[in-house]
Amino acid sequence: MLVEGNKALVTGGSRGIGREIVLKLLQNGASVYYIDLNPGDSLEEYRAIADSHGQQVVYKEGNVADEQTITATTEEILEESGGIDILVNNAGITRDGLIFRMTAQDWSDVLTINLTSAFYISKVVSRSMIKQRSGSIINVASIVGVIGNGGQTNYSASKAGLIGFTKSLAREVAARNVRVNAIAPGFINTRMTEVLTEEQRNQLKAQIPMARIGEPEEVAKVVLFLASDLASYVTGQVVNIAGGMGM
Ligand code: NAP
Repeated sequence: MLVEGNKALVTGGSRGIGREIVLKLLQNGASVYYIDLNPGDSLEEYRAIADSHGQQVVYKEGNVADEQTITATTEEILEESGGIDILVNNAGITRDGLIFRMTAQDWSDVLTINLTSAFYISKVVSRSMIKQRSGSIINVASIVGVIGNGGQTNYSASKAGLIGFTKSLAREVAARNVRVNAIAPGFINTRMTEVLTEEQRNQLKAQIPMARIGEPEEVAKVVLFLASDLASYVTGQVVNIAGGMGM
């Protein structure tokens, strides 16, 4: 029960890595609010865990790229919860393509959903965390934001931007006991990587020192650590969760 009694807000919590993060936080005693485009299939499973421990799990529909609605939804969650202790900016998309085929829309969709959304939500939540003199913000970046990847100029720019955002915000709020860290997952088994062919998977594995693709739960375990008091003196860091890529 590493986050017992805490209240968490997770974006993109219906599936993939976000789903495992919601589960890990619930299993460790937090109440969880999550924002997504749709509730997915996980809400009943979340409720069963929350109910058995007397916690809450609340789904809020919202597009993190829409400043007005996401700001209003985040304010609503702060009001209902009485304060958020853990924020995980996880929602993200890919629109891959070589630069000469990439449209301006592919570029701006990825930048807005992956990076600007973290600004919208953190702006509201960090103000409240500063007032309560505690909080942990975790931004889900990517190893390609650190080492780059052909075909992903938009995605790697958004994730590298998220890393810069993390370090700057960490400096702004550190003295008020608010910690801000980023994680940089490598290739993880979710819908985002389902599209890879067997050949692409084998080529990828050859670049991963641990020679395998990671599981969403392996990402969620690091998020739990950063969210919890175990990381009470850790801020402004980027933790690679990539089987040794980027070392
Ligand atoms: P995923 O399986 O596609 O899940 C992403 C979740 O975010 C979905 O529930 C999706 O909703 C939601 N979402 C997308 N756009 C949204 C929006 N505008 N507003 C609200 N919610 C939105 O992806 P994932 O692999 O779990 O990725 C989660 C995070 O990890 C992303 O930031 C991603 O960049 C990062 N990451 C993933 C990998 C990987 O290999 N999988 C590696 C490094 C980093 P819908 O289902 O309705 O679209």
